[in-house]
Amino acid sequence: MSTLVHISNLTKYFPVNKGMFSKEVSQVKAVDGLSFDIRQGETLGLVGESGCGKSTTGRLILRLLEPTAGKVEFAGKNVFEASASEMRALRKDMQIIFQDPYASLNPRMSVGDIIAEPIRLYKLAHGPEVQKKVEHLLSCVGLAAYHARRYPHEFSGGQRQRVGIARALALNPKLIICDEPVSALDVSIQSQVLNLLKDLQQEFGLTYLFIAHGLNAVKHVSNRIGVMYLGKMVELAGDEELYSNPLHPYSKALLSAVPIPDPRAKKERIILNGDVPSPVNPPQGCRFHTRCYCAQDICNHHEPIFKRIKPGHWVACHLVESEIE
Ligand code: SF4
Ligand code: MG
Repeated sequence: MSTLVHISNLTKYFPVNKGMFSKEVSQVKAVDGLSFDIRQGETLGLVGESGCGKSTTGRLILRLLEPTAGKVEFAGKNVFEASASEMRALRKDMQIIFQDPYASLNPRMSVGDIIAEPIRLYKLAHGPEVQKKVEHLLSCVGLAAYHARRYPHEFSGGQRQRVGIARALALNPKLIICDEPVSALDVSIQSQVLNLLKDLQQEFGLTYLFIAHGLNAVKHVSNRIGVMYLGKMVELAGDEELYSNPLHPYSKALLSAVPIPDPRAKKERIILNGDVPSPVNPPQGCRFHTRCYCAQDICNHHEPIFKRIKPGHWVACHLVESEIE
């Protein structure tokens, strides 16, 4: 599989005021030195608790945010060095589906106009062709043509997310960032939308970065999975490898929360102590050490390197030894 997106040392710090009476500014280290690839045609799941930097990573890749440091290359092109016209072309290839289908659709526009907007903006069709294209996109996401005349409030959550997907497809993108696309939906609807995303991936040759809270949500959609903690990637592996052989203590804890189909199979739930520390002042050494049930002395002072343990499996933990040197 060839690389579609190459991310190196991607970093985003947001300045925050320390308080009303303080002129001091500190920084939220939302994303702190991420390096990974997204391969053509795959679904890369990106998981971690709220505030670990998953959504910020997605927005940086699309350049909806400017980075503090680092590089994103899309099909060999450095996104952050793209001119306005190059960026316009890149935007066509990279789309996003948001978590909240209620907030991401303009309530004053009909669904037909919402989907037609990018088509008109990029002059992909004219006159009656636009409507034809809108109807085709609606059918791709399982909605009948008459829905084009209706408004977002007339739709259920699942239908709205289908509209969001149709809009994302309108420009025939190569990459779609799916930012928790089903977590606001009823459980009964979630798998329908996930199946739709899988079918569309086949049909349109799409590549997904699929952002989710826990490992359960990415289980049936991802080819590879990256686990993030406090702005850092702590583990990256193929999905089967990560589910059967998680190596980072944080991944093991996340995995222990995933229900297993066989009730006779015993699994110890690993409960982590405390909350995720503030990204304004992340712990020294390994950022996970304040909650890690395996922490050693070295973990308090030395940050572990994100290293390849075996082909395709990367981990940042002092206790995990590489099988290849
Ligand atoms: Fe835990 Fe230390 Fe590994 Fe960090 S480096 S995950 S604190 S054992
Ligand atoms: Mg988020």
